[in-house]
Amino acid sequence: MSLIQIKALNKSYFLNKNRMDILKGIDLTVEKGEFLAIAGPSGSGKTTLLNIIGAIDNPTSGQVFIDGREISALTSDELADMRAQKISFIFQNFNLLPVLTAVENVEFPLLLKTMPANERRQKALAALDSVGLSRFSRHKPMDLSGGQQQRVAIARAMVREPLFILADEPTANLDHKTGEEVIALMKQSSREKKITYIFSTHDQKVMDQADRVVRIWDGVITA
Ligand code: ADP
Ligand code: MG
Repeated sequence: MSLIQIKALNKSYFLNKNRMDILKGIDLTVEKGEFLAIAGPSGSGKTTLLNIIGAIDNPTSGQVFIDGREISALTSDELADMRAQKISFIFQNFNLLPVLTAVENVEFPLLLKTMPANERRQKALAALDSVGLSRFSRHKPMDLSGGQQQRVAIARAMVREPLFILADEPTANLDHKTGEEVIALMKQSSREKKITYIFSTHDQKVMDQADRVVRIWDGVITA
């Protein structure tokens, strides 16, 4: 069974009775452990697609199966559980909580689980270690570089062992070299921990590191 299966997905918005078709007949299958890039220019529908895969936006029509279950058939509790426990996001602007230290940011998603505080801290420290940031565990985001902040966000995404991690242009706010390092780190964690990543990009160097590149153009998958 595939981890994610999308069938005949359409997404439209209505503005003053005008229908705008944003995603048009998307079919996509993602296997467990893939390091997959969704590549396309600005406005092609990447964010919309990732948000639907992440169950934070609804398709207009079509089906999305995650781990064999169609998400539109889930109850609101099941959907909330899926979002909170099974799907992690990495954002282009890192989205760390500024008042929390690096390790506190990483352990934040674990607060939703019943877990003793010391176990939570151990897991967060281990995740920070795996992105090479042990020494920075007590730093606040403003005292970290962009690349370091994105590595904290990767640790935060990994720590609860989700079904998959979605990363919407994770290198867009980083310089080229740092962006490549961040993607290399994601790829390494995908290999070593069998984590599935789906990330969007319009940067050829970033695409080059993917196992597979799905190209989207004007809401249609072209290759
Ligand atoms: P990308 O991430 O590839 O830049 P998006 O998925 O953000 O593309 O957007 C695809 C298209 O959908 C764009 O033309 C954008 O203007 C439009 N769009 C996105 N969100 C909305 C919305 N809430 N209402 C209307 N149009 C939207
Ligand atoms: Mg986008």
